[in-house]
Amino acid sequence: MSSTTTQLPMILDAVEVTAVERLSPSFVRVELGGACLADFGVDGPLLDQRFKLVFPGSSGKLPDYTGADESWFDTWLDRPEGERGHMRTYTIRDVNGTGAETRILVDIVLHVEPGPTGPGAAWADAVQVGDRLVTLAPRAGAAYGGIEFDSSSAGHDPRLLIVGDETAVPAISGILRDLPADARGAAFLEVPVAGDVLDLGSPEGVQVVWVPRDGAPLGEKLHAAVLAHLGAGDAVISTNPDEVDVDLWETPTYSSSGEELPESGASPDADLYAWIAGESGVVTGLRRHLVRDRGIDRRQVAFMGYWRRGVAMRS
Ligand SMILES: Cc1cc2nc3c(=O)[nH]c(=O)nc-3n(C[C@H](O)[C@H](O)[C@H](O)COP(=O)(O)OP(=O)(O)OC[C@H]3O[C@@H](n4cnc5c(N)ncnc54)[C@H](O)[C@@H]3O)c2cc1C
Repeated sequence: MSSTTTQLPMILDAVEVTAVERLSPSFVRVELGGACLADFGVDGPLLDQRFKLVFPGSSGKLPDYTGADESWFDTWLDRPEGERGHMRTYTIRDVNGTGAETRILVDIVLHVEPGPTGPGAAWADAVQVGDRLVTLAPRAGAAYGGIEFDSSSAGHDPRLLIVGDETAVPAISGILRDLPADARGAAFLEVPVAGDVLDLGSPEGVQVVWVPRDGAPLGEKLHAAVLAHLGAGDAVISTNPDEVDVDLWETPTYSSSGEELPESGASPDADLYAWIAGESGVVTGLRRHLVRDRGIDRRQVAFMGYWRRGVAMRS
């Protein structure tokens, strides 16, 4: 075993960029390697497995976690901002190799549309083989969590509704890869431009619909495509920006607003399972339609704000 933080139930260590591939105008694929990844492991398929990356701060240095223990997060927060770097959440797009040759692939979105960028996107825009960063990732044999896709609440043959923007494309790609061959449903993926449409494998019964924004407002075309799919093309989704929860996270087992799950009742879409991730305002709009207007049981949905327009994610 190789990690410097073996007492922690996860890997928290430096890794190095071993390959870089520009997939499309908005996506950069980065391959990460390092001795610590010999300890990597997930119990079952990766699906939408999330993990963390810490990008170097203004000092250009990376925090050193040698000997870190359970208090690592507090001691990390105590460091001056320039030294602690910037922690952001990403999806493990895939894993190649084994042992010391284990490589994690991560697809990072560049903010190509007009608007602010952030440390994660800026790092990816300039990334080169040999660059170093820190990862917080699942350790084999230890509980890590971080997989939300679970359609079991919608029965044995769920009708899947999978929706996301570009930040969720890596997670949706992983879900489509790991679904059983007889899965059925549809996946909607909004991306900045038509050139971002990627070649994804998916079960035959799952329709994959790409929705390039091509200059349209965030989420507008995605909302329209999903509503049409649900036979609610006349419905209007409007979201008050003041009511959007930046940390929106609602799954059958967790609610960022603290909302209790309602009593289980007869749901008009008892076989529907919805997994929806992306910009919090866009996801909030779809949540309203599905749960409030359509009455879908909250146990059959996962709504996840992966980022919020105008807000830098907190480390
Ligand atoms: C579970 C989970 C999995 C994720 N998986 C991925 C993944 O695999 N790949 C990926 O690229 N992202 C992924 N994200 C989203 C990513 O964490 C955020 O986009 C994050 O804000 C990026 O950090 P940043 O430093 O670039 O920008 P921040 O410093 O967080 O934000 C700076 C500014 O950039 C804006 N901004 C942030 N993201 C975007 C964007 N995508 N497009 C346009 N403007 C943006 C913000 O609104 C803000 O104004 C995931 C998030 C979660 C919660």
